[in-house]
Amino acid sequence: MKIFNTASRTKEDFRPLESKKLKIYTCGPTVYNYPTIANLRTYINQDLLRRLFEYNGYKVTQAMNITDIDDKIIIKSNKEHIPYKNITLKFEKIFFDNLDELNIERPEYTPHATDPEAINQMIKIIQSLLEKELAYKSEDGSIYFSVNKFKHYGKLSGLDLGGIKDGARVDQDEYSKENAQDFALWKVKKEGEPSWETPFGSGRPGWHIECSAMSTKFLGETIDLHSGGVDLIFPHHENEIALSESYTGKKFVNYWVHCEHLLINGQRMGKSLNNFYTLDDLRNQFEVEPLAYRLLCLMSHYRERLNFTETSIHQAQNTLLNLRTFIKKNLDCDSEGETKSIENDFHKAIDDDLNTPKAMAILFEFINKVNLNNTYGHDVHKLLMKLDQFMGLRLKEIKQTIVPKSVALLLEERTRARADKDWALSDKIRKQIEELGYIVEDTKSGSTITEK
Ligand code: AMP
Ligand code: ZN
Repeated sequence: MKIFNTASRTKEDFRPLESKKLKIYTCGPTVYNYPTIANLRTYINQDLLRRLFEYNGYKVTQAMNITDIDDKIIIKSNKEHIPYKNITLKFEKIFFDNLDELNIERPEYTPHATDPEAINQMIKIIQSLLEKELAYKSEDGSIYFSVNKFKHYGKLSGLDLGGIKDGARVDQDEYSKENAQDFALWKVKKEGEPSWETPFGSGRPGWHIECSAMSTKFLGETIDLHSGGVDLIFPHHENEIALSESYTGKKFVNYWVHCEHLLINGQRMGKSLNNFYTLDDLRNQFEVEPLAYRLLCLMSHYRERLNFTETSIHQAQNTLLNLRTFIKKNLDCDSEGETKSIENDFHKAIDDDLNTPKAMAILFEFINKVNLNNTYGHDVHKLLMKLDQFMGLRLKEIKQTIVPKSVALLLEERTRARADKDWALSDKIRKQIEELGYIVEDTKSGSTITEK
């Protein structure tokens, strides 16, 4: 199994810390607003990554944080005069509902930044960094990490430390490489902001310390894999490495996996750019299902940007409907050997750095072939159910058409009429079948029936 590691910028053979076990950490959402379909692309790809390992027989343990305290949440809470928890609980529920609709498996751990065990772990790390003099308290009482004291700082993102002024500080959690400075671990209490008491003063956590705390707390000092969107490489992941490795003295992550952005009109889709859609928009405005969006993501590679268009989402919806109709028809190919070789080719494609567009092309080509040249049986059905453990398109829920005897007899009669070229009788029987709630479709090798 090969995976592209951002840290080495190459595709590497995957070697787990423990045989057939995977420890994976995923940066979760900041729950202050509706998730955009761009955010959801990242979570779909993380789910595919998780399912890839499960498909390969790994037991996965995944942790994902829920950021339920940060600058954006506080600003919204003050502006709308409501407690911050009212905002975060509402949007956390929407986030998880969205994951369910997209058939994204839940991580084993989804701790909140404000959970007491998370806060305690953050306090522990900050105290240790203060003792080691890798972090310091500023005049106003906030705690900062000294980036110049971590010798690997900048390695993941390729940042040249030369431009960073000693002691220059940044308060915001998000900033660009040009503004790289010592960053806040603990923000001193301010009027109108929620705060927690600690040995180094009351205040609230910064964002980067959150993931270091959750990862070490729930998964241990070193983990196999850490994932997130490409925008998180700097500063967030760079900072997570600096904090975790300074705290434990061990390597933090073996494989860094980053998902490319969803674009719209060639521009990054984002909340700040106000050019986004939500899952509800897909349903109401485009009249497509969430699973059509999952399929759209499956048909593109996670390391390629994906430009969202109305045409592409409609095409994905049609492809999904065709796939369901195919399953309902219960067609088969001639040999079990062929389904085995398709399964192998599909598996090989996803094992090669999650090449889902190639895997889907293999599957669709096979389906087209079976559609043209069908006989009856169950090997194809078995194959699709197996592959769906990875794809997650809920294909198991599709009921195959069980045709009542009366309809089957009508179909036989119609086939005879067609063989006799009695088109008038054939049309009459088709109507009779339709009145009973079934659709007849004629293919080169015979007629098939699906429920209306
Ligand atoms: P946030 O809730 O803003 O912290 O973002 C949640 C996740 O969405 C992060 O992993 C981001 O990297 C990711 N993300 C943000 N913008 C995009 C985008 N345009 N396409 C794909 N993923 C994105
Ligand atoms: Zn994180």
